[in-house]
Amino acid sequence: MDVSHILESLNEPQRNAVANPSQKLLVLAGAGSGKTRVLVHRVAWLMQAEQVSPFAVLAVTFTNKAAREMRSRIESLLGQSLHGMWVGTFHGLSHRLLRAHWREAGLAEDFHILDSDDQLRLIKRINRSLHIDEDKWPAKQCQWYINAQKDEGLRAGNIEHFDDDYTKTMLNVYLAYEEACNRGGMIDFGEILLRAHELWLKNPQILAHYQNRFQHILVDEFQDTNAIQYAWLRVLAGKTNQMMVVGDDDQSIYGWRGAKIENIQQFNVDFPDAEIVRLEQNYRSTSTILQAANKLIANNQSRLGKTLWTDGDKGEQISLYEAFNEQDEARFIVARVEDWFNSGNRRSDAAILYRSNAQSRELEDALLRVAMPYRIYGGHRFYERLEIRNALSYLRLLVNRDDDTALERVVNVPARGIGSRTLDTIRNVARAQNCSLWRACTKCVNESLLNSRAANAVLAFLQLIDNLQEACDELELHAKAEHIITHSGLIQHHEKEGGEKARARVENLEELVTAARNFDRVDFDEDFDLKSNTLLAAFLDQAALDAGDTQADESDDAIQLMTLHSAKGLEFQLVFLAGLEEGLFPHKMSMGTISGLEEERRLCYVGITRAKKKLYLSYAESRRLHGEVKLCRPSRFIGELPKELIDEIRLKSTVSRPSFGSTRIGKGLNGNVEVPQTEFSLGQRVGHNKFGEGVVLNYEGQGPNARVQVNFDTVGSKWLVLSYAKLEVLG
Ligand code: ATP
Ligand code: MG
Repeated sequence: MDVSHILESLNEPQRNAVANPSQKLLVLAGAGSGKTRVLVHRVAWLMQAEQVSPFAVLAVTFTNKAAREMRSRIESLLGQSLHGMWVGTFHGLSHRLLRAHWREAGLAEDFHILDSDDQLRLIKRINRSLHIDEDKWPAKQCQWYINAQKDEGLRAGNIEHFDDDYTKTMLNVYLAYEEACNRGGMIDFGEILLRAHELWLKNPQILAHYQNRFQHILVDEFQDTNAIQYAWLRVLAGKTNQMMVVGDDDQSIYGWRGAKIENIQQFNVDFPDAEIVRLEQNYRSTSTILQAANKLIANNQSRLGKTLWTDGDKGEQISLYEAFNEQDEARFIVARVEDWFNSGNRRSDAAILYRSNAQSRELEDALLRVAMPYRIYGGHRFYERLEIRNALSYLRLLVNRDDDTALERVVNVPARGIGSRTLDTIRNVARAQNCSLWRACTKCVNESLLNSRAANAVLAFLQLIDNLQEACDELELHAKAEHIITHSGLIQHHEKEGGEKARARVENLEELVTAARNFDRVDFDEDFDLKSNTLLAAFLDQAALDAGDTQADESDDAIQLMTLHSAKGLEFQLVFLAGLEEGLFPHKMSMGTISGLEEERRLCYVGITRAKKKLYLSYAESRRLHGEVKLCRPSRFIGELPKELIDEIRLKSTVSRPSFGSTRIGKGLNGNVEVPQTEFSLGQRVGHNKFGEGVVLNYEGQGPNARVQVNFDTVGSKWLVLSYAKLEVLG
């Protein structure tokens, strides 16, 4: 068979990696040098040149989105579909193993995944029952501790401890948490990996089966594997299987979650015969962008050190915008995206990247105002939205009544008169009887442990769930979802709230029905024979695992919003890095230590190197985040970039407005509104005859359409049409 076309579009070192016969192979190279491309081509090469079956290939990437993209890229290279090949994330693949071997893994058949929000709630409950002082040992800290141990592959039982208060308390919680999870048939994200690893260690015949099967293992973004993920790979690869890992130490950005750059060095220690391939040519970015990235990352001390060059064009300068505040920043970015779109580009080729999820809200508002379609990856994931989680909780109760977390979430949503006192009683009964909340509810009702009003409310809830179950039993998945969102009262609940946000929530709920409809079984074909009721369970699992890209129609041309962490591996023609401010980026939680600061810098390097053609950086002089307004200083990372590559865009701090006060707006001879032009600036204090005094925050539009946003001292922020508002300039 002619396989030359697979190697054609590669450079020499890339070809060497793709067709390399070594058993263990490490591709170590900088951003945009073709690591992922090599990985994809290697799979194609294995199948065409070496006649490897797709069943023998396991490819691991970092996100579900990346996995889907990888699969489709290989398919288009080969011109055939890849039935039987495992492509996924560590979590997705491990989860698949656990579903197939739940018994050997010591799990309940209907185990379900606890996401991090649910995990925190559970830990809070446990801490209450252990009488742990929340001020001294916050549940968040316990959660962090437990997850960190799991990432290291450690169970409560095998952690060394020295009787210090901290470790003793944490271990207590960890133990109780493990018990609660086992009892409730729940596994958290860390547990998925830990269990899968243990499954292999404890069941040599299962391990042998998979080792036999997966003769070829390929791993993208290897620099971000943590201890348990690496152990998982090492066990599966064994001595004889082929394994190629590709990575870039400069893009290691999950140290805070236990990822270990050291795994790159460890790989050489564990597999001393491994061949190392280096790629040095960047094919992604203009030389301006690449130069900026190289310069920035050179400030890090701990690097393996790499060269990266391009023979691409110099390209445009990097633009830097100093915004008045976060709204001005959002307005600026959105205006640039509109320009971009209006000059014939696709919105989906542009991305807005930010350090912290909370930044998306303002950007979303600005996008909504001009009705620009957008899609958010990571963070505010579809399946993490409040309304969706509520709906899923109802579905989860259908699958398993003993799902305490789900019950806690919706027992009084929508409100049905089950207050916190009633809930406390129920929790106490559950604790005393060592049973689930559902059973405790039943007991409370049957044994008249509640006053009659509360008892009626609880009974109504129990009946509601039973009725939903009965009605849904025979329905298809999407019809189940549809039935639940209406008959649980969730839709009406949000409709009653009113307003833009509530409308979005209702739309999201409707979107869930679409997601259920689209949920196809292709991914499960070979290993599971899905009964109709476990399709729902599988759907719920996917909801917990998925990166949430179902929120908007994939075919819509939408601008992409995501955190820098979720942008890893991706590329866009046009990239905005927003919020480059000290404390935000580098983040205040990480900037105190050298290693923390270097990880932030790597994150910035990841951000810059996502851009192919044009990069915008921006920061705000003042920013409201988490309800507080702070004055900001520009990020040190801006100062680390070569000045000559940067074009500073000056803040356009004044807005033309019709004059106010005594000047009346009159009709001109041609009937148009005459607009006398005066200027005033952002940040200026103004007065309004109805709303009182305030500060000008933002503006948009021109002439008679000009609008300003004023933050009034007493009534808060309002948008006003300048020509009617009759604002008075103060001070
Ligand atoms: P990152 O570190 O960001 O994950 P990467 O090393 O995985 O980057 P790729 O995403 O594989 O890099 O490649 C970057 C871009 O360069 C892609 O658009 C890819 O198609 C292109 N590219 C890579 N190698 C070549 C080549 N030999 N010829 C043409 N284009 C290439
Ligand atoms: Mg890549």
